[in-house]
Amino acid sequence: MVGFDADDTLWRSQDYFDEAQLEFEGILTGYLDLDDMQVRQRLHEVEGGNIGVFGYGVKGMTLSMIEAAVELTGSRISAADIGKVVALGKRLLQHPVELLPGVREAVEAVGRHYPLVLITKGDLFHQEAKVRQCGLAGLFRRIEVVSEKDPGTYARLLEEFGLPARQFAMVGNSVRSDILPVLDLGGWAVHVPYHSTWIHEQATTPDAGHQRLCTVANAAEVPGALEALAARAYAPPG
Ligand SMILES: [Mg+2]
Repeated sequence: MVGFDADDTLWRSQDYFDEAQLEFEGILTGYLDLDDMQVRQRLHEVEGGNIGVFGYGVKGMTLSMIEAAVELTGSRISAADIGKVVALGKRLLQHPVELLPGVREAVEAVGRHYPLVLITKGDLFHQEAKVRQCGLAGLFRRIEVVSEKDPGTYARLLEEFGLPARQFAMVGNSVRSDILPVLDLGGWAVHVPYHSTWIHEQATTPDAGHQRLCTVANAAEVPGALEALAARAYAPPG
């Protein structure tokens, strides 16, 4: 079975967050002498502290922006500007789903050889809406929106699938959420890096020589990478 991550693997996501970050900094400029880097750093700290309370996704991020804005402005931020932050969050929830180049063809090609599952984290409501809009839902046997992508979550999913980890490969952009937990369990992984990574997803990439990992440049290279991993899986030892 092959699992696909969704945000920044199937469709664009982090770019919208990066734009929202700049817009947020713009809203605060009227209040602060701080430079944008300090605003950014404080927002990241608030977001990081809130993940365990709000979980992942746009709604939690919007609340973290409001919290950081109140704190950084010493409670001087106006209701009108808080309204702008809320509007920015709503726009993030409603942007159209834009598949990355070559994704449809790659998922179709992989789906001809393996059953597919989509595994994503974030707001349930938002992720379900994006899955409906993306036009790929029919290619996946299962769609799993989870609250965290750690070894425990993958182990639980594999148990539900009735599958040993060595028969599972995960394709995704996040080393922390898509690659390391699956390799840890004894599964396989195809890393497709995206040009922008959220600070709380950053992690050290495992050694490129890892036996059960392939890193590729784009979606079009994913079917070939899975073929290469399958060849390693079935190669006689030594
Ligand atoms: Mg992702």
